[in-house]
Parts: sequence; structure tokens; C-alpha cells
Amino acid sequence: MKKQAVKITTIEHITHDVLHIRTEKPNGITFVPGQATEMFLGEAGKDGEGNPFTFTSLPNDSYLEFIIKTYPSHNGFTSKLLKLKKGDEVILNDVFGAIEYKGDGTFIAGGAGVTPFISIFRDLKSKNKLNNNNLLFANKTKKDIILNGEFNKILGKNFINILSDEITEEYAHGYITKDFIAKNCNNLSGYFYVCGPLPMMEAVEQQLIELNVDEKFIVKEAF
Ligand SMILES: Cc1cc2nc3c(=O)[nH]c(=O)nc-3n(C[C@H](O)[C@H](O)[C@H](O)COP(=O)(O)OP(=O)(O)OC[C@H]3O[C@@H](n4cnc5c(N)ncnc54)[C@H](O)[C@@H]3O)c2cc1C
Repeated sequence: MKKQAVKITTIEHITHDVLHIRTEKPNGITFVPGQATEMFLGEAGKDGEGNPFTFTSLPNDSYLEFIIKTYPSHNGFTSKLLKLKKGDEVILNDVFGAIEYKGDGTFIAGGAGVTPFISIFRDLKSKNKLNNNNLLFANKTKKDIILNGEFNKILGKNFINILSDEITEEYAHGYITKDFIAKNCNNLSGYFYVCGPLPMMEAVEQQLIELNVDEKFIVKEAF
């Protein structure tokens, strides 16, 4: 896809710092659930690198959707998104991404690292193929959990949360550990899909290796 400007059709917060944005869908855009695009704003779209964001809509939807964690204190790209409104334009570029569904397994996400899994789970649900896939979702606090209601509804007991900075009755407390993965994974011989901030990814990959998971069954992308 060449760089194309698309109009925002809806923009709203779905958690205290996460935006849900829908845009028009340019003709000819195709992607596989889990893939991303580069996004630019205004003049910056003419050259340079954009910021990567994952499509959370399905390939056949008539719109594009993005779910974006914002960092207002950074004065970076996502703080500019906070100023946008319906009718404004963003520029999109090539489609790319390392995470693609390969078969049943355990999905391990940290924060906004869940975004590639949103489209994958929505796609599996639409095909009635959610099977026994699990989502282990690590966040700081309960209010940071993206699409808590939707994941609960479609995954039920296979949606397992862990919070590092809040103790609750319903969720595990702490960081993801080898024992937490072993206890809550779908099957140690299945696929492991891992996405989140680099330190979390490195820790989880090491834990998977210690659990004797073959590296060819680890599908990953660092945010
Ligand atoms: C292939 C790919 C797909 C992606 N898809 C998505 C997506 O769909 N949704 C999404 O939300 N993100 C996604 N990301 C991440 C996203 O691109 C970046 O978070 C975003 O570009 C950051 O832009 P920024 O300029 O606002 O933030 P920056 O100024 O770059 O700052 C953001 C970074 O600073 C750090 N940071 C900021 N605030 C804090 C804090 N308070 N404490 C600790 N660390 C902090 C974090 O490490 C964070 O990653 C994706 C990344 C990749 C590689």
C-alpha cells in the first residue's frame, strides 16, 4: 500500500489512557489478523518513519480500527493523537507484522501488546474456531485491562489476568513467572504467542525456554 490519508470516523477512550479509533478503509488494503501499519500525522507523512499500530478490525470489516495506548507525558506521537477528533486525517503506510495465528496455543500479552491478539481472537470467534486458546494478560492495575468485557465474553475461563501493582480477589498478583505460565497455559507443546514491552518479552521467552518450549513454537513481537 502507498501512503494514504484516511479520515477518522470515531475516536474515544476505552480505558483511562487507551484510545479506540476507527477510520475509513482505503481501497485495496489487505492484512492478516495480527498485522500492523505505520501511522503518520500531517507533514510528517511526507517522509521519515511512522509509528507502528496494529489493525484490531477484521480484514473484511468496512472500516479500520486501532486500539492505542497513549503516553501523554512524553509529548511523542500518541500524545498528538489525543488532540484528534472525528473528521481529522491520519496517514497510513505499508502493512507488516510478525504475529500471525499458526495454531492453538497460549497468548501472553503485556499492556498494549494485546493488540495483535484482538484481531486474531475476533477472527477465530467469527470462524467458530476459538478452541482452547488461552490469553494470559499482564497489566499494572485492573483499570489498565484493555477490552476486559469482550475478552471475558469470548474467552471465559481461558482469559487469565495478572496485575503487578494491584491486589484483587479475582486476579493473580505479580509478574508473569515460569510457574504462572505452566499453571495457566493451554498446553506446553502448543504455540506461544508473546507480545509486549521488550523487558517483559525477554523475561517470558527465557521462562518458556526453561519450560522446554521449542523456539519454533514461540511467535513474538516486541512493542
Ligand atoms: C509492530 C508493532 C505494532 C504496534 N501496535 C500497537 C498498537 O496497536 N497499539 C499500541 O498502543 N501500541 C502499539 N505499538 C507500540 C507503539 O507503536 C508505541 O507505543 C508508540 O509508537 C509510542 O509512541 P509515542 O511517541 O507516543 O511514545 P514514546 O515517546 O515512544 O514513548 C512510549 C514508550 O516510552 C515508555 N514509557 C512511556 N511512558 C512511560 C511511563 N510512564 N513509564 C514507563 N515507561 C513509559 C514505554 O516504553 C513506551 O513504549 C506497536 C509496536 C509495534 C512494533
